[in-house]
Amino acid sequence: LTSSPRSQALYVIHIAAEMAPVAKVGGLGDVVTGLGKALQKRGHLVEIILPKYDCMQYDGIGNLRALDVVLESYFDGKLYKNNIWVGIIEGLPVYFIEPLHPGKFFWRGHFYGEHDDFKRFSFFSRAALEFLLQAGKKPDVIHCHDWQTAFVAPLYWDIYAPKGLNSARICFTCHNFEYQGTAPASELASCGLDVQQLNRPDRMQDNSAHDRVNPIKGAVVFSNIVTTVSPTYAQEVRTSEGGRGLHSTLNFHAKKFIGILNGIDTDAWNPVTDTLLKVQYSANDLQGKAENKIATRRRLGLSTADARQPLVGCITRLVPQKGVHLIRHAIYRTLELGGQFLLLGSSPVAHIQREFEGIANHFQNHEHIRLILKYDESLAHSIYAASDMFIIPSIFEPCGLTQMIAMRYGSIPIARKTGGLNDSVFDVDDDTIPLQFQNGYTFLNPDEKGVNSALERAFNYYRNNPEGWQQLVQKDMKIDFSWESSASQYEELYSKSVARARAAASQS
Ligand code: ADP
Repeated sequence: LTSSPRSQALYVIHIAAEMAPVAKVGGLGDVVTGLGKALQKRGHLVEIILPKYDCMQYDGIGNLRALDVVLESYFDGKLYKNNIWVGIIEGLPVYFIEPLHPGKFFWRGHFYGEHDDFKRFSFFSRAALEFLLQAGKKPDVIHCHDWQTAFVAPLYWDIYAPKGLNSARICFTCHNFEYQGTAPASELASCGLDVQQLNRPDRMQDNSAHDRVNPIKGAVVFSNIVTTVSPTYAQEVRTSEGGRGLHSTLNFHAKKFIGILNGIDTDAWNPVTDTLLKVQYSANDLQGKAENKIATRRRLGLSTADARQPLVGCITRLVPQKGVHLIRHAIYRTLELGGQFLLLGSSPVAHIQREFEGIANHFQNHEHIRLILKYDESLAHSIYAASDMFIIPSIFEPCGLTQMIAMRYGSIPIARKTGGLNDSVFDVDDDTIPLQFQNGYTFLNPDEKGVNSALERAFNYYRNNPEGWQQLVQKDMKIDFSWESSASQYEELYSKSVARARAAASQS
């Protein structure tokens, strides 16, 4: 009798550079926490290993204490000491590695963007595996994320499995193939990897610069499971236009590569309980949504004369990936169509920030347009709740969270058909899509015509069929975007991989 692999509890360790809410830059931080919590709820043992950054939100960590051990780990031909801390984040046990290296790797006041990031994170990847080895841990799955911990895959097979840390399958998730962390090949030696062995076309050598190594490529080659954050993005990165130089590698390893759509944190994003809103509301009580619309328009100085004037929201990092020129166009087109527009966004790119500051100033006292150019979590909640429609004209979008959050708050998405948007937003006017899945407006071409067509269709329906619109809002608010379904897909991947390894071991 064989037991189903899915019924077995697994021991999963995430090694990551981010974890929401204490050390978050982007979606990766949300995935580690969201997936970790969902897997824990399904009965698996989940632990996380993070760098001990000086700039974490320490008040989000429970019971933080230093373990009474000093971990020695290898770097640049020497052994360096590390303190190991343990604490609880959102109910998940987390180990923090604090290197006592003179480079002060995680005492920089921010998470990324340092000249020595390659060193900082290859050091961390090795120290994390060293900790697992010395602590005698026997995980079933080690799950690493993005280029910062991609080193784990080659380090595991080349160095740690031979040392006896050999119980695990390696899963690697790439959250955005734009960031590959390439560096001169010689830099790989610092963490003890063999440059000669790895700087080869079938291993870690960058596909376009042959004197450089590519950590993402290394993780794709050396992991047992490779995932990205939506099925459509997984297809896109296997094409020469979308793969950022890695399409041939991904195609070669296609059998172990899959896209799984992220979930959202449905506790944090819940209009029924959201204390950041003026009024809480549900799909069955949309009066509260109308009150939030009035309150937010007042607060931001927009006209409230017409309760039925469509309000379009947009909350985003203002970077080329998000289609900034199309966002700008949507602002002007919304105005022409007689709607209102609220943009909450900030840009790390100076010329984009300047351009949007110009638009913000232009509309400073305008009664229908407001641009708020900063990061503001609390205002984001108010805008999701207040808006009738939400625009996401991304050029590419690995998964995207804002379309799912918007729907949960009853704001109908208007999205470009790319990546995770294509897997979560389905056009109400597309007869080929079953009625129960239709939930928003989409357009294919990333141009002004595309934006116009979707925006105009949304405005027409909103104005001409208020009852139908309300039903659409209610339907969208009830869609399940929790981590449940994604976590069950990861669970299945893990279980199958573990079962395959055990079957192979028992035959040898
Ligand atoms: P990305 O990770 O590429 O920025 P996602 O759609 O995956 O895009 O996630 C964006 C998240 O960041 C959402 O939760 C969104 O609400 C939030 N966000 C983006 N910009 C801002 C901002 N200026 N203020 C508050 N929250 C923001």
